[in-house]
Amino acid sequence: MSDNLLNFAISEEERQVIELTRQICEEHVVPQRAELDEKEEYPFKILEKFREAGLPAALFDAEYGGLGMGMFINVLLAETVAEYCLGVQTAFGATKLGALPIEFGGTEEQKKKYLTAFASGEKIGAFALTEPNAGSDVPNLSTWAEKKGDRYILNGTKQWISNAGVADVYTVFALTDKSKGPRGMSCFIVEKNTRGLSFGKLENKMGIRCSHTRQVILEDVEVPEENLVGLKPNKGFIHALLTLNASRPAVAASAVGVATGAYKEAVKYTRQREQFGKNIINFQAVQHMLADMLTRIEASRLLTYRAARYAANRHPETAKFSAIAKYFASETAVYCANHGLQLHGGYGFTKDYPIEKMYRDAKILTIYEGTSQIQMNEIGAYIIKEAGLLK
Ligand SMILES: Cc1cc2nc3c(=O)[nH]c(=O)nc-3n(C[C@H](O)[C@H](O)[C@H](O)COP(=O)(O)OP(=O)(O)OC[C@H]3O[C@@H](n4cnc5c(N)ncnc54)[C@H](O)[C@@H]3O)c2cc1C
Repeated sequence: MSDNLLNFAISEEERQVIELTRQICEEHVVPQRAELDEKEEYPFKILEKFREAGLPAALFDAEYGGLGMGMFINVLLAETVAEYCLGVQTAFGATKLGALPIEFGGTEEQKKKYLTAFASGEKIGAFALTEPNAGSDVPNLSTWAEKKGDRYILNGTKQWISNAGVADVYTVFALTDKSKGPRGMSCFIVEKNTRGLSFGKLENKMGIRCSHTRQVILEDVEVPEENLVGLKPNKGFIHALLTLNASRPAVAASAVGVATGAYKEAVKYTRQREQFGKNIINFQAVQHMLADMLTRIEASRLLTYRAARYAANRHPETAKFSAIAKYFASETAVYCANHGLQLHGGYGFTKDYPIEKMYRDAKILTIYEGTSQIQMNEIGAYIIKEAGLLK
């Protein structure tokens, strides 16, 4: 099964979408990214350009107003947009992340209502799992949904939610049966205008500053039972796991994009910077740094595409390869941004060159959607299982 999934050929349709995305990014992201970052301004205008070009539709199935291109395009788009700006990619990608629990667990009616609105770009989404005391330790979550008649009442606080405050629709994870721990978790669809839903302050972040991150605060938020994803309680843990397995290849792809952006900036700079009478790219030590970056990027891309193909085909080793790809590619992004900045010398330490922002942006990749340590824990669990040591 795995062999034919290792075909990473990109279709003509995918190539066209990527080409169009590059054009939009060159025209609209490159000139604006520094200012959006400086002002912490959400990239509404850029997302509108994406919408006009049909990019949200590329991420969804044809039954729900999408282009039905399959899951691989999500990875290709993430890689492309992140090469230009990881903040824009985080803002854009958060809608798909918020949509995934509905795609995996929603009823036909829920899919029709919400996925169609995401695909048209009419609505922005967000995924609300993390809490102040439940980050890596997801099972420790305490947001609670109590059933009252045909409604659920939600109380709790979600932490670090991308697109919070901006999004129209939130997929919120809450306990419906405390006695079952994480197996008593459910996912709810909460719309922005619901009474009792509010947002914390805009987090003043080191990087990806144009992507807005806030707390989502739920105080007696009342939702109809139709908003329980799949209409069956206590399925949220599985919806969250499926979502993370499917979205980690896209985060890994974002990392490949950031690393590629840093590499290209480093090549551009070292080709024109002269020291000791020659362009510094002619020094072998500089070439070695570039070679190291390129090798890691190529390896990251292959791991990412493999994980993406596995996720798209529900391969049994999806979780393992998603963790491997996310871990390696995100560390590669940090490595390449660091080395790319080093190759700019003092100029890289200023905001005059995009590498400074790439360096700040890259770090989040080793943190969100599971830190590098959590990815390694998952890989470690597979090592133990495959060695037959699991009790
Ligand atoms: C900008 C940003 C955007 C985000 N967007 C979203 C979003 O849209 N939706 C959402 O639900 N969440 C989101 N998150 C949350 C993100 O996924 C968590 O921050 C992340 O999972 C880590 O949790 P934590 O911050 O609580 O760190 P902690 O879990 O407290 O970890 C702190 C440190 O301890 C280490 N550690 C913890 N447990 C272990 C262990 N068992 N073994 C080894 N090391 C361990 C970690 O690796 C880390 O180095 C976002 C976070 C940020 C910063």
